[in-house]
Amino acid sequence: MTTLIPMISQKEITQKVKEIGRQISLDYENKELILIGILKGSFVFLADLTRVITLDHQVDLVGVSSYSGTSTTGIIKFTKEPDLELKGKDILIVEDIVDTGRTLSALLNFFKTYEPGSMKVCTLIDKSERRETPVDVDYACFHLNKGFIVGYGLDYDQKYRNLPAIFDLKL
Ligand code: 5GP
Ligand code: MG
Ligand code: MG
Repeated sequence: MTTLIPMISQKEITQKVKEIGRQISLDYENKELILIGILKGSFVFLADLTRVITLDHQVDLVGVSSYSGTSTTGIIKFTKEPDLELKGKDILIVEDIVDTGRTLSALLNFFKTYEPGSMKVCTLIDKSERRETPVDVDYACFHLNKGFIVGYGLDYDQKYRNLPAIFDLKL
């Protein structure tokens, strides 16, 4: 039987996203901010985050699929590359979860080749205690270290992305 245990409520998410959005709005004053959402997991977070940032900014999306077990550094394949010109821009990568850090590390190396003016990371969930590859996370809404979570864009087998709050999935 599949059980969904409530972990983070809709209200807590709304409050925290607003807070992070306010901080980003302060930090990126007079900068050329581009939010880059990593599909698919970040789409709900990105949609809420972009609406609480009070500065003019652009939004782009990239698609990535990862191959596990082939390399310690992580090998990723882009299923959708960025559309916008990133050179010299202040890019903020918007992730759903940073877990081992392999995906993010590979992403950061990839985005460096576009020569952005600056590059930072914002994640909904940081599982920092599980890190295997060191990566800097600049903005994290929540820290968790156990469980497999779903909802608010996060899936299990492509399901549960529509849930408005975050749940621990027990199979
Ligand atoms: P890593 O940091 O290990 O390279 O991978 C992070 C990715 O693994 C996340 O972006 C997410 O897609 C997936 N992931 C890690 N932990 C969870 C979890 O608890 N729930 C879900 N739905 N995905 C997870
Ligand atoms: Mg992700
Ligand atoms: Mg997934």
